[in-house]
Amino acid sequence: MFENLSDRLTSVFTNLRSKGRLSEADINATAREIRVALLEADVALPVVKDFIARIKERAQGSEVSQALNPAQQVVKIVNDELIEILGGETRRVRFAKTPPTVIMLAGLQGAGKTTLAGKLARWLREEGHTPLLVACDLQRPNAVQQLQVMGERAGVAVYAPEPGNGVGDPVRVAQASIAEAKRAQHDVVIIDTAGRLGIDSEMMQQAIDIRRATEPEEVLFVVDAMVGQDAVNTAQAFMDGVGFDGVVLTKLDGDARGGAALSVRQITGRPIMFASTGEKLEDFDLFHPDRMAGRILD
Ligand code: GDP
Repeated sequence: MFENLSDRLTSVFTNLRSKGRLSEADINATAREIRVALLEADVALPVVKDFIARIKERAQGSEVSQALNPAQQVVKIVNDELIEILGGETRRVRFAKTPPTVIMLAGLQGAGKTTLAGKLARWLREEGHTPLLVACDLQRPNAVQQLQVMGERAGVAVYAPEPGNGVGDPVRVAQASIAEAKRAQHDVVIIDTAGRLGIDSEMMQQAIDIRRATEPEEVLFVVDAMVGQDAVNTAQAFMDGVGFDGVVLTKLDGDARGGAALSVRQITGRPIMFASTGEKLEDFDLFHPDRMAGRILD
């Protein structure tokens, strides 16, 4: 995860180690190198610009600590600013005062939504909740069956339309699942929705309709981190369409660059809430900005 960026930043810091104090030229050179490292990581340009401006300002400013040498100071500043662009505090799930809490997943096909639904269900179950998985992706062949397999593996019930009975109307399935959750006392409902390979207005409208019908506490935008800056463009389209409260980054295990993770918060104004790091149900956790920054600078 983020190996390329880590390596680049490490070499920037190594170059500073021999310096007794940093001249303005040193700071400018370092800022330039960090800029290149971020651009190569596919971080969105406005994010890079802000980041570099803050690094320069702080490095030139008065926060010179006697306890740290110049290289350590720059590492600390970069660490602080990475935490900031990754979202600062860990953002936890908001639960409804009156159950069930509805969590709706939205994103493109192949982003990892159905897998994520299983992971989230398992995670919630371990946290002491009684989730219900709901199959509203009625477009992709096998998506319902795939969710049922996820439910089985996660040890969580799945609500899916009976074949021939209301199939094709995900809004009705979503509505009915809430009644089912109340009846069977599930405190969380996780709605898996249909994605397409690209943004299309029919898919977006369906997501909007499901959102209106179920009034979720959390709409989570699920996105494949490996697509880098493209994730930001897709996020923007979902923000303008269905809207969302938080982001889930999937396939971080295969992401050597980190551009999506470092851009999406600032561009959409929404926090990254969860990270998915593999195909197994356990490869999943809350997203902790401080730990992620630590990994990048490790
Ligand atoms: P959906 O179309 O959005 O529902 O996507 P799926 O859940 O079917 O996932 C698409 C593919 O990505 C599947 O082969 C998953 O096994 C794989 N996948 C999902 N999440 C991850 C992840 O975090 N890491 C890796 N390496 N693969 C993942």
